Amino acid sequence: MHHPILISFVSSISFVFSVFLCCFFLSIGSADGQTAPRLKKSSPLHRARQSAEFAAQAQPRNIILLIGDGMGATQIYAGMVAGRQELNLERFRHLGFSKTHSFDDLITDSGAGATAFSIGKKAFNGAIGVDSDTMACETILETAARMGKRTGLVVTSSVTHATPASFLAHVPDREMHEEIARQIMESKVDLLIGAGKKYFDQRKDGRALTANMRERGFYTAFDSASLVQIPKGSRLAALLWDKEAPKMSEGRGDFLPTSTRLALEHLNDTTKGFFLMVEGSQIDWGGHANDADYIVREMIDFDRAIGVALDFAAQDGQTLVVVTADHETGGFAINGGDWSSGRIEAAFTTKKHTGVMVPVFAYGPGAYAFTGIQDNTSIYRHMMRMWGFTASSPWPWRKSAPEKSRRSDTAE
Ligand code: MG
Ligand code: ZN
Repeated sequence: MHHPILISFVSSISFVFSVFLCCFFLSIGSADGQTAPRLKKSSPLHRARQSAEFAAQAQPRNIILLIGDGMGATQIYAGMVAGRQELNLERFRHLGFSKTHSFDDLITDSGAGATAFSIGKKAFNGAIGVDSDTMACETILETAARMGKRTGLVVTSSVTHATPASFLAHVPDREMHEEIARQIMESKVDLLIGAGKKYFDQRKDGRALTANMRERGFYTAFDSASLVQIPKGSRLAALLWDKEAPKMSEGRGDFLPTSTRLALEHLNDTTKGFFLMVEGSQIDWGGHANDADYIVREMIDFDRAIGVALDFAAQDGQTLVVVTADHETGGFAINGGDWSSGRIEAAFTTKKHTGVMVPVFAYGPGAYAFTGIQDNTSIYRHMMRMWGFTASSPWPWRKSAPEKSRRSDTAE
C-alpha cells in the first residue's frame, strides 16, 4: 500500500535531485572552460534560479506596509466591479493569505490585528503594542527608528486610532486616545499625516501636545496648504481634522494618495532607508455600516495610494511593498449583479468583523516570503528578518496597568 502523499513526496524529492544533477553538469561544463548553454527564460530551471536569487537578495532598503482595514477579498473585488476599473492590486505577482485570529478570539479587532503586524505577537482584542501579558514590545517602526531608518504613518483616521497607534504606542486599551497621543508625541517617528488633533490639543489634562511636538523638532500642520510647504526631510505632524478624515463621499478628495506621495518624498531623503505604514482606515467603517458604496469608494481610494507606493518601488528597486488587511468587516458578499454596468447586489452577515483569512500582496526584494498561507504575525517576522533587525526586550507597560484588556465583545 502506498500512501498518495508519500508518492508525491518521493517524486518531488526525485525532481529536486534531477535539478541538482542538472546544475552539477552545467557547472562541470563551465569548469572545463566551456560556456554553459544559456537557459531559455521560460525554462523551469531558469525560473527556479530566478526566484531563488530573488529570495536570496531579500534586502529591501525601504519597506512600505499598506493596511486596508477590514479589506477582505470581496471588498477588493467590489472595488474592481462597482468601480469598473482594474485595480493597482492586480499589478502584484506574489500573493498569499493571512490568518487573522487574535490571542483569545477567532474574530480580531483592529488593535490586536495591527499589533500582530507591529510586534509580531498575538494580543488580546483592544490591545495596542503590547503582548498577551500586557508587556509593551518594541514595534517594527520603533526598531527601524532606533536603527537609523526614517519612519512615518499616513492614515484616514485619527493617528491615535487602533491601527496607527499599534506602531507607536503601548497601552492595554485602544480607547486611551489621550495617552496614545502623549506616547506619539514622545516617540521617534518622523512623519505623521492624518487626523485626531483634538487628542493632542483639547485634552482633559489641559496640555497642548502639538506645542511639545514643535519643541521636539516637529513641523506641525493643521491644513493641507501648510502641509505642502514644510521643507522636505523635516519631522512633521499633520493633523488635518479634529477626530477623523471625512469619507470619500464627503469630499476627502485625493488626500490619501497625495499624502502617500508626499510622505515618500520626505522619507526617501536618506541613504539608510525608511519604514512607512499607510492605512485605508475607512474600508472597515463602510463594512460596519453595511454600506457597499462606502466600501467601494474607500477601497478605490486606498488602491490609488497602493499605486503610488508601487510606482515608487518600481523606480527605486530597493523597496518592499506589502499590502494586507487586519481582518474582514461585515461578512460582505456579492450575491448578484452585472459586470458591464458595475451593479452589485451586496449582502452582509454582520455589522462586526468576521473570521476569514485576508489576502496579502507583496512586491519587490523579499516579496516571495509573503506567499502562501501564514499567520498575521509572520508579516512582522519577515520584514524584521529581511532587515536583520531584532526587537529590544519587552518592558511592562505601567505598573498600574489593568491586568488584561478583553474587548472581544466590542471588536471594532
Ligand atoms: Mg484601522
Ligand atoms: Zn472595525
